Amino acid sequence: MIKVKNLDKSYSNVQVLKDVSVEFKKKQISSIIGPSGTGKSTLLRCILGLESFENGSITVNDKQLEFETNKLLDYRQELGVVFQDFHLFKHMTVLKNITYSLEKVKNLKEKEASDLAHVLLEQFSLLDQTDKYPSQLSGGQRQRVAIARSLALNPSFLLLDEPTSALDADTVLEFVLLLREIKKTTGIIIITHDLNFAKRVSDEIYLMDQGQIVEHQSTEQFFDSPITEIAKRYIESQIV
Ligand code: ADP
Repeated sequence: MIKVKNLDKSYSNVQVLKDVSVEFKKKQISSIIGPSGTGKSTLLRCILGLESFENGSITVNDKQLEFETNKLLDYRQELGVVFQDFHLFKHMTVLKNITYSLEKVKNLKEKEASDLAHVLLEQFSLLDQTDKYPSQLSGGQRQRVAIARSLALNPSFLLLDEPTSALDADTVLEFVLLLREIKKTTGIIIITHDLNFAKRVSDEIYLMDQGQIVEHQSTEQFFDSPITEIAKRYIESQIV
């Protein structure tokens, strides 16, 4: 489980996270939604240990986030992340993108890394792309490589930043099915402003507004009977 408690975070004098407390469970898809500039990415970056914060604590499976190098590396092993632009290694093939971190981080031998990578490539319908470079792939394929690379390291949670921005409407359904498969073993946290996608894929929704979580409900409850005026207005403005 990821536990964020009473998190305060400011940039210069501006407080962008205000007393944020959330818990994310394994084998669930949790979406954090809300207008742009409300602190969703900052929360994600804090959970990943990429940002310091003034107050509060974050633990993942009882490992507390601390910024001392060895403790941070150990903590980060619990988390996989795929950013909006994927951060693939451009000069490496699809296969090498996956085996590289297995060899460096997990100390696997080339053959073991390659065998494991092929299992993932098959699961992600990428076997026929094995020897291509990222520039030769579609946005959706690049995204699947990035997710496969993250999952190869066996994290407890996968964090996805605006994952539908790389996809056209036809591939979103396929992506939803893929995430449902992944959540059988891994918790998934999604940052998105795509409410239609969040509605389709999530088990639970957190709505952020001005640095705070203003509503948390199961997906069904959130869309059928939102509690706050902010949620009601946001749903009305976004659902098409
Ligand atoms: P969201 O992901 O919901 O769009 P962000 O977390 O990116 O929101 O941003 C929250 C607020 O923090 C915004 O007002 C943004 O301008 C500000 N912010 C984000 N990153 C930085 C930064 N590195 N330095 C200063 N301000 C930042």
